[in-house]
Amino acid sequence: MYNYLERMVGMVMPDGKNQRGIDFSIMPTLECNLQCSFCMYDCSPFERMRIDLVKLERFLNSIPLERINSFGLYGGEPSINIPLYKKVIAMLPLDSDIFIITNGTWTKSLGIDFIEFVMEFNLQCFISSTLEHKAFQDAAVLKNVLRSYSNFTVKEDDTQKKMLPMGRNRTAKWECTKRCGDTEDKKLLRFAVMPNGVVIFQSCDGAYPIVGGIDNPFSLKNYLNQVKCCQAIHRRSKS
Ligand code: SF4
Repeated sequence: MYNYLERMVGMVMPDGKNQRGIDFSIMPTLECNLQCSFCMYDCSPFERMRIDLVKLERFLNSIPLERINSFGLYGGEPSINIPLYKKVIAMLPLDSDIFIITNGTWTKSLGIDFIEFVMEFNLQCFISSTLEHKAFQDAAVLKNVLRSYSNFTVKEDDTQKKMLPMGRNRTAKWECTKRCGDTEDKKLLRFAVMPNGVVIFQSCDGAYPIVGGIDNPFSLKNYLNQVKCCQAIHRRSKS
């Protein structure tokens, strides 16, 4: 997944300047049919919150689409609420690159509905592959799916990256790379909206600060200022 997410882009804007692209992810729900011990967003079968679709659509319309590299869909487990994820896809521009992340539990029941959904919208589908996920997947069905459909890829086991909830790194020594404010850095800026409508910044190599919400229009300038405030607080707390 990371190669896809962090594909380098040097997008040429109408004003002729090179500007960094954006990956924007949407988590319509944190409801999941699993409850993995390491889950970054604390997803579980007990989560009931759904994103406000009216507000989400208004917010998505405020994003500068010329800077979007791809949209991401996850949660929560998309395969247990395909209609909800379809509603979100219907809000995105028709020619968008969209990736989706799933736990692969649908392989236990062949997953015809989910496979049809992925193929209908030409989604790039990443299947989680930690030991906790594999215990709930049908390995033979998964092998067939991977052989038959190029849209499906097994995602690397990122529990090895020692991540804690909300992207916080396990080591006490993490340093913010200041990637968001580094004009030489061409890596994608990553944002995500959560079911409660808050927007988080996902490229801090240590923390995912809240930078805004879907009640207000998308504002890259405000969001990056918010990240810089978080960096300043972090620096002060260390001194
Ligand atoms: S399957 Fe994914 S979303 Fe669900 S609990 Fe596990 S890590 Fe979280």
